[in-house]
Formats: sequence, structure tokens, C-alpha cells
Amino acid sequence: MQFIFEPHPYRVIFGAGTLGRVNEELNRIGTRALVLSTPEQKADAAALADGLGPMAAGLFTDAVMHVPVPTVDAAVARAVELKADCVVALGGGSTIGLAKALALRLELPTLAIPTTYAGSEVTPIWGLTENGVKTTGRDRRVLPKAVIYDPELTLTLPVGMSIASGLNAIAHSMEGLYAFDGNPIVTLMAEDSIRALAASLPVIHKDPTNAAARAEALYGCWLAGSVLGAASVALHHKLCHTLGGSFDMPHAQTHTAVLPHAIAYNAPAVPEAMERASRALGGGDPATRLYELAAGLGAEMSLAKLGMPREGVAIAAKLAVSNPYPNPRPITEEGITHLLEHALDGLPPVAC
Ligand code: NAD
Repeated sequence: MQFIFEPHPYRVIFGAGTLGRVNEELNRIGTRALVLSTPEQKADAAALADGLGPMAAGLFTDAVMHVPVPTVDAAVARAVELKADCVVALGGGSTIGLAKALALRLELPTLAIPTTYAGSEVTPIWGLTENGVKTTGRDRRVLPKAVIYDPELTLTLPVGMSIASGLNAIAHSMEGLYAFDGNPIVTLMAEDSIRALAASLPVIHKDPTNAAARAEALYGCWLAGSVLGAASVALHHKLCHTLGGSFDMPHAQTHTAVLPHAIAYNAPAVPEAMERASRALGGGDPATRLYELAAGLGAEMSLAKLGMPREGVAIAAKLAVSNPYPNPRPITEEGITHLLEHALDGLPPVAC
């Protein structure tokens, strides 16, 4: 056995009602916070800033998907104008992505308060979009100093988004199970996150206000984000990135539709990972179980219905082989074409 393990130094405060500890936590990292949110979560951000009193320097509530550079410029200007010395990010991957951009530009420490299951708050991965092109990279400086995971904040996350976001998190862990640079801690986190999410998402689907299931799902997402932050991704994430960029497809939903097929493709090369995944998913073939789980929770499984044109199959298959990266099974144009044709029509995964 050989591995490298490099833990990230952030503090996690987890549990229902932990938002009530935000002043105490902020006190550890700064004195004048710029509070970030999307326009949709502006009222929550304003209430949070009110509660922070003099520790809130002001608000910036224009965070949007994929961190456009003009949005970062405006947030930087606001932080400088308000003489902010730290950032509080309340929201999903879009808001936390903006906080990461501020950490890179101004070196401001961040307190992250995630309200979706994206997991970005515990990864050193940043993204920026300029003139329609998204660039990503890894830099430990973008990690928050602390993360408050309060499952009560996820009670309002719409069911469809909860399911897609939760399956997106499962995807991080599935690929963590066979990452070329994984380690025993990544494996443990990955397996338990798949178990927690596969158990809680069906309960949330029936009753989005179930507090125990919301807590279990958020716990699973913390682990899944930690896996994504610690190990490299492979075929599944690369394919989703290509589809998102080429056909402007929705992030979490695309992950949901592709995942069973990507796992069916890689499964023959990684029997031990599949044994763990099967255990976490309650038995059976992991690719089939993931398909049944997602489809059973009403997720859209057809890439065509998510906006992918039929001629996109050939384009995406060519792109997949043009830019090599580590994957447990060699990536062939023929294999990816077969995989995408099934995903395009929302069919169950088949071994190929
Ligand atoms: P999001 O942050 O874009 O949120 C989607 C919408 O849901 C927004 O309008 C938001 O205000 C709203 N919302 C969030 N939480 C809510 C809640 N509890 N109740 C009601 N509404 C709520 O969505 P996301 O899926 O969390 O993030 C997607 C972005 O994150 C993408 O740009 C993706 O690339 C990025 N991401 C980055 C990483 C990373 O490690 N860097 C990881 C995962 C995702």
C-alpha cells in the first residue's frame, strides 16, 4: 500500500441550529465581513448581516453560476470600498465560488455557510468564467477557514435540486473510490457519503422537511466534497465538464444523467471500488442501482431532454479522447459513443 494524505486545515461546525454560532465563529477570522449571496438568497443574507451587527461591513448579493469575472470585479470593489477584512458566503456553489475568487484576489479569509449539496466549500478547486470560457484550478488559499453546516438551511432547497445536487455529490465519491491518487481516508469518506446520500435522498423526496434526512444528506455532502477536494476525478467528471461547456447543460442534472453510464464503463477495471459502492448502495450492481435511485426520485435521465443535441454524441466522444487524463479504463471513442448514446435517450446503463 502506498499513498499521500494531505489534510486540509479548515474547521467544521455541523448540526441543526449551528447558524446561531456564526458570530462566535466569525470572531475567530475577522472583524468586518462582506456577506455574499445570490440575488435569490438576498433576504437570508440581509438577516444574517443584521445578526452580525458591527461585524458585518455590508452585503454583495449578485453571485451567479460559474463565477463570471465581471461579478468578481464588482465584489472586489465592494470589499475594498467597505474595508472588509473577511468574507461570509451564504449559499451554494455559486456563492462559495465567488468567495474563493475573493480569497485569491484579496487574500480575505472566508467563513462558508453552504445551503446546497455541491460540496465546493471543502475543495481547493476554484473556477472563473471569462468571455464564456471557464477556467478551473486548485489552490489551497481558496479554502475557507471554517464551514458552518446547518441542515436547517437546506429545508428550503427544492426537492428536484436536492436530488440532483445530492447525486452530483455521490458522483464525487464514486470517482473518489477509484481515483489514481486516492488514499484510505478518501475511500472511507467516499463509501460513507454514498451510503448517507443513498439513504437520505429518498426520504427527502417524500418529505423535504424531514430534519434527520436533511442532516444525513448534508453530512454525506461534506464527505463527498472532502473526497473531491482530496482526490482527482476521472471519466465521469471530465465528460460532464465537456457536456456542460459544449452544450450549456445544467451542472447537477447532467451529473445525475451521466453517472450510471460512466460507472458502468469503468466498473470492469475497478472491482474493489465497485464492491464498496455496492455495499454503500444497499447491494447489487452500482451502475444499475444509481440509475434506479435517480430515476426513482424523478430525476431526468435523458441528456437529450437536458438539452444535448443528438449530433453532440460524436462531438463529445471526440473531445473525450482528444485530451487524455488518468482513468481506470482506457477511454475509446467507440466506448464513449456507446455510453453517450444510452445516456442521451435516458436508457438504463449497460456494460460496454
Ligand atoms: P447554486 O449555488 O448556483 O444555487 C442554485 C440556486 O439555488 C440559486 O438561486 C441559489 O440561491 C438557490 N439556493 C441555494 N440554496 C438554497 C436553499 N437552501 N433554499 C432555496 N434556494 C437555494 O447551485 P450549486 O449546485 O450549489 O452550485 C453550482 C456551482 O458550483 C457550479 O458553478 C459548479 O461548477 C460549482 N461547484 C464547484 C465546486 C468546486 O469544488 N469548486 C464543487 C461543486 C460545484
